[in-house]
Amino acid sequence: MSLFRLKGVRTPHRKNTAQMPAVRMPAAQEVVIPMSMHIGAPATPLVKAGDTVCVGDVIAEAGGFVSAPVHASVSGTVKSIGEFLLTSGKKVPCITVVSDGMMTVSDCVKPPEVVDRESFLNAVRASGSVGLGGAGFPTFVKLNVKDPAQVDTVVINGAECEPYITSDTRTMLDRAEEIEEGIRLLQTYLGIGQFVIGIERNKPECIAKMQELAARNTAVKVVSLPSVYPQGAEKVLIYHTTGRTVPAGKLPLDVGVIVMNCTTVAFLAQYVRTGMPLVEKCITVDGSAVKCPQNIIAPVGTALKDVFAFCGGFREQPAKVLYGGPMMGIAVVSLDAPVIKNTNAVLALDEQEAKMPSPTACIRCGACVNHCPMRLDPAGLSRALEREDAAALIKGRVDLCMECGCCSYICPASRPLIQQNRLAKEYLRKKKAREEAREKQKAEAAKAQPQVQQEEGKQ
Ligand code: SF4
Ligand code: SF4
Repeated sequence: MSLFRLKGVRTPHRKNTAQMPAVRMPAAQEVVIPMSMHIGAPATPLVKAGDTVCVGDVIAEAGGFVSAPVHASVSGTVKSIGEFLLTSGKKVPCITVVSDGMMTVSDCVKPPEVVDRESFLNAVRASGSVGLGGAGFPTFVKLNVKDPAQVDTVVINGAECEPYITSDTRTMLDRAEEIEEGIRLLQTYLGIGQFVIGIERNKPECIAKMQELAARNTAVKVVSLPSVYPQGAEKVLIYHTTGRTVPAGKLPLDVGVIVMNCTTVAFLAQYVRTGMPLVEKCITVDGSAVKCPQNIIAPVGTALKDVFAFCGGFREQPAKVLYGGPMMGIAVVSLDAPVIKNTNAVLALDEQEAKMPSPTACIRCGACVNHCPMRLDPAGLSRALEREDAAALIKGRVDLCMECGCCSYICPASRPLIQQNRLAKEYLRKKKAREEAREKQKAEAAKAQPQVQQEEGKQ
């Protein structure tokens, strides 16, 4: 049986906002734009306090090859550049812009000239695009494959398997032409021959819309997938749309595939048509504590408190606020936290919905093993962490855990298995760093030794 034949879990869909086209919210009084909204090096600020900016101005350049530039999402004045604690737990430099309320578009915003592979990739880089499904990997880096012949297929992720989230659903329904145009750009300039759009069966309207598109382009195929979480996980999706298995520790590229979120594909077309970089994001705002759940388009950097206020505020004080869905979402510590490029949902949960049952002893039922899409042994990994057994964690391949949360969801003893896997990875990271520091110290001491002996010999 394939590693990725998905057992997963059946979660309640709660796609309450699926029928709601996204509404653009007005700019808040100020936005806080992080320099790190992507995997890789943070962007380097190009502006200083007091500078005036317009929508679409580059305010920070890519800080390395794996990085992305950052653009102003409102027009106004740069108030400050300082560090903020983000949900990642890291302090990240952020540029605060006070909006003038005008949303004046920069003169620099004009459609890029795209004539070949190089100019297309340059445009992708300049657009500030990152994976909009949540991963945040710079799109330019993903598409800039050393050997273009290595890729024959782009898998377009329209699975949107997490409960509540419907922002990709709206992209497929409201921006189908842009998805079509994005595919054409990838076909024309990167020479990719096959596009497979994977969508869960609980979105029949999206499947129908994408099938219309496929009828006009023979390179496009739509695959309807069972509604099982985590159908949208990269390796699971590749297996179910192409039949290819990405071996442990390998990348989609190793099986000739690039995976792109449907909203990222639509954004590329929008950028090439308008030249407006990634300055706003469609997000689903939902959860039992939200008064008026809906899909909204917010300028990047908008504080969550402003997002919730636009959605009518709270029915009751939320017990938990999440960036993302209930399965993989990260708890937000402050409503001052901003919407970032790859935010696809924010959920505010009331006390009852947020309540976590108290864990009891593992009854060794094996359900977590049976439902893990990576065929890991979450219970065994949890025990290994408790006894700080690094060798067992490495042997059990905790590094392959994609933190989908199926194990925690299915566990009858409510064990916090996903949380423990996150802790286990952190434990191994810190242990490795300590060992490397010790080795470095030893090497430096060994280097210094002959010098000391020489000095002593001189005396
Ligand atoms: S599902 Fe829970 S109770 Fe069952 S083996 Fe895994 S950790 Fe133990
Ligand atoms: S061990 Fe990791 S990959 Fe497996 S079910 Fe749990 S969270 Fe998902």
